[in-house]
Amino acid sequence: MSKIKVGVLGAKGRMGQAVCTAVTATNDCELVAALDLNDDLSELVSSGAEVVVDFTTPSSVEANLRFLAEHNIHAVVGTTGFDSEKLSKIAKQFDASKANVVIAPNFGLAAVLMMQFAAKAAPHFESVEIIELHHPRKADAPSGTARRTAELIAQARSGMTAMPDATSDVLPGARGANVAGVPVHSIRLQGLVAHQEVVFGGPGESLSIRHDSYDRESFMPGVLIAVRKVAQTPGLTYGLENLLALDS
Ligand code: NAP
Repeated sequence: MSKIKVGVLGAKGRMGQAVCTAVTATNDCELVAALDLNDDLSELVSSGAEVVVDFTTPSSVEANLRFLAEHNIHAVVGTTGFDSEKLSKIAKQFDASKANVVIAPNFGLAAVLMMQFAAKAAPHFESVEIIELHHPRKADAPSGTARRTAELIAQARSGMTAMPDATSDVLPGARGANVAGVPVHSIRLQGLVAHQEVVFGGPGESLSIRHDSYDRESFMPGVLIAVRKVAQTPGLTYGLENLLALDS
């Protein structure tokens, strides 16, 4: 059986190092390139990489994806910071390429389930807010997972009346960021990895759905699923849940 040749961008970063270890530990993938900032992307071509995993920074990822689309190399992206405008630009680049791209705001299986449970609960409650908690070295806020969760909740609540909220901000930001109509609060604390709580409120009761990622290892099964499946999913696939559905 021939192995999938995998390159990693952001290989010296926290997530990139974990991806290199996870790829090396598989029987069906081979790590052929491990690049970090200022390394020459042409090494991805000369190494014969078929799939490149990007865990870099929101400011670097777009140029990396343009290179991969132009060179017909499949991309698996964990880097966050995408809005709908950036996503549609990337979709066009990969539609014009022989390669495909999978972008997942969260590669953790439990995190994907947390988002699905939140979307399921959303139409049944008057109020909902998201609290996302991460380590203080995280580059962006709110997290990609929180943005994605808010979008899924907003879709599930479409047609519902606006959430009750009589509060006016005495200090800007006191009510968090408004993502698709859902308040999102970002906490950065030493010792944390990646955590999120979605809190729903209705008359006389509330429901909290919480996900905790204690170790970057939690993202690796999802990353490897994407590496194995990206060649079969044309164009842009956004969200790991779409690849899990291919398993059933
Ligand atoms: P990190 O430790 O800062 O790692 C990023 C690495 O990428 C650094 O070594 C950085 O180098 C390098 N880099 C920057 N620009 C590059 C470029 N153009 N080419 C190659 N390498 C480049 O960050 P992290 O904690 O690993 O997180 C990386 C990204 O993944 C973030 O956007 C984070 O939010 C996201 N994330 C996603 C998931 C998910 O499941 N989707 C999970 C966790 C994290 P320098 O340090 O020299 O700048």
